[in-house]
Amino acid sequence: MAIIRNGIALTMFLTLHGALGFGSISRHAAIGAASRRHLITAFSTAEAAAASSASEKKDGPIKNDQAYANLKMEEIVSLCKRRGIIFPSSEIYNGFAGFFDYGPLGSELKRNVKDAFWKAFVHEREDVVGIDSSIIHNPTTWKSSGHLDGFSDPMVDCRETKLRYRADQLYCSPVVLEECGSTVGFVCVLEGNDEDMVKEAKAQANRLLKEKEKKGAIQPFQFKDLTQVTEEEMAQIPSPGSNKPTLTMPRDFNLMFQTNVGAMQDASSVAYLRPETAQGIFINYKNVLASSRIKLPFGIAQIGKAFRNEITPRNFIFRSREFEQMEIEYFIPPGDEDVWKPYHEKWIADSKAFLEQVGLREELMGYDVHEGDGLAHYARACTDITFKFPFGVQELMGIAARGDFDLKSHSEGSGKVLDYFDEETKEKFIPHVIEPSLGVDRLILALICSAYAEDEINGEKRSYLSFHPSIAPVKVAVLPLVKNKEPLVKAARELYEKLKKRWNVQWDQTGAIGRRYRRADEVGVPFCVTVDFETIESDGAVTVRDRDSTEQVRIPMDEVVPYLSKMIDGY
Ligand code: ATP
Repeated sequence: MAIIRNGIALTMFLTLHGALGFGSISRHAAIGAASRRHLITAFSTAEAAAASSASEKKDGPIKNDQAYANLKMEEIVSLCKRRGIIFPSSEIYNGFAGFFDYGPLGSELKRNVKDAFWKAFVHEREDVVGIDSSIIHNPTTWKSSGHLDGFSDPMVDCRETKLRYRADQLYCSPVVLEECGSTVGFVCVLEGNDEDMVKEAKAQANRLLKEKEKKGAIQPFQFKDLTQVTEEEMAQIPSPGSNKPTLTMPRDFNLMFQTNVGAMQDASSVAYLRPETAQGIFINYKNVLASSRIKLPFGIAQIGKAFRNEITPRNFIFRSREFEQMEIEYFIPPGDEDVWKPYHEKWIADSKAFLEQVGLREELMGYDVHEGDGLAHYARACTDITFKFPFGVQELMGIAARGDFDLKSHSEGSGKVLDYFDEETKEKFIPHVIEPSLGVDRLILALICSAYAEDEINGEKRSYLSFHPSIAPVKVAVLPLVKNKEPLVKAARELYEKLKKRWNVQWDQTGAIGRRYRRADEVGVPFCVTVDFETIESDGAVTVRDRDSTEQVRIPMDEVVPYLSKMIDGY
């Protein structure tokens, strides 16, 4: 979605989400358990048994059900840095706000997420094709799309500290005395989860009462964001930077990054880094239509970088200035609600199914249906799929029914005909469009949070990432039980070489086996394969350990690939 970014949830943004959350379903565990059962045999060699039982109890881990409720973003950020998932960008130069780098594991995770999207929505469908457009388009593109005039966020400045804030992310409330109903002043807090906002507001209210020498209970806070306040109110609202009423009234700030193309550095050479991938699809509509054999309804998908000069990038990779999007423009016949609504609903359902398929916990997802002011003037409908991040319920993905706004605007702006000719009805028309739009980085953050789990094995606490095998950065860790027995290491190495041709596999021969399991668990490796003495001396089989249940099964060497293939790829 392009232009309308604000307007929803202006009181407390959390009310809709919880009520509309999804019911519960089972995930990949079911297939894992079924295919595991017949393969389980005794975990037999003395050495291997000792190595395993030393750290993991037979009756399995005791799950900490409160792990997610207690999860703090700092833990996620620290884990990501420590284990090479995501680093702050340019860290040796003290970083660069709103930019991040993906490390060895993060780049694998990102690749898997994008591949999963492409597989689900392009390869497995007959009605969607992909493109990969340039990042910088002819600047007229952004005039036609409306971004030059309207792609902005409301911004307020603190006159004293010179800090800038997004007006729709700052919430104020009057502090009203319960007894007499008089307003003592205002509090002003940054958007966050309910609990944090109220806690901060209470602290500010206490300070205010003390300062004004007032006593007594106060009424519940009535939050509204700063796009909704009058000048008179703004004159009393404290800036989070100065604690004094030093904020300006909101004004629009265009989020597009400018650059110059060619040797001239004047107005004629100004171009923009794309703030979304969608327009690259619209401007290629005619070419794709002419060069493919697709017929309406059909979609064009694109995955790629997008850039937004966000006023306040925050919450790690949730809102950054450089990010990636996965977008589809699904072209449909024109018509009223009876035409577009079934397509819109199907895309919402398919999008939710995809998010579950890559492993998002269903109970953390919800819907936010845009209505009234929250809907762009041209849009027929827009539903966000939300996710309960540790900092609150937020948009993860948007699915909009955009009418014919985009193709019509580009047709007018370019002077080119962007019609569709229906061979059956012999009619020409501009198709309407449904747009599912999902941020790669935002999904990665949701996947990491969703996968975060804690349990206790044999009295020892464990934290791990229960990634779905299809998106786990490393699929298998191969562990020779000891590193100084040549035939054992050789057998493990041969298996490693074989598995590596199929998946991203890790070799780990250092330390006690229990420690090696924990290292793998922490970054979400779904399977550890241990080669032990019995492998080379008698049964020619290995032990495959499941990360989540810690169950171990004994599998003949030549059945390891088909077994893992079923568990990881599902076939
Ligand atoms: P928001 O209201 O959170 O700024 P938006 O409504 O502007 O998002 P869209 O323009 O609809 O977002 O973009 C589609 C998707 O792209 C979003 O659902 C989100 O997943 C992702 N996205 C948008 N802006 C950012 C950003 N600054 N950083 C990371 N991902 C983003």
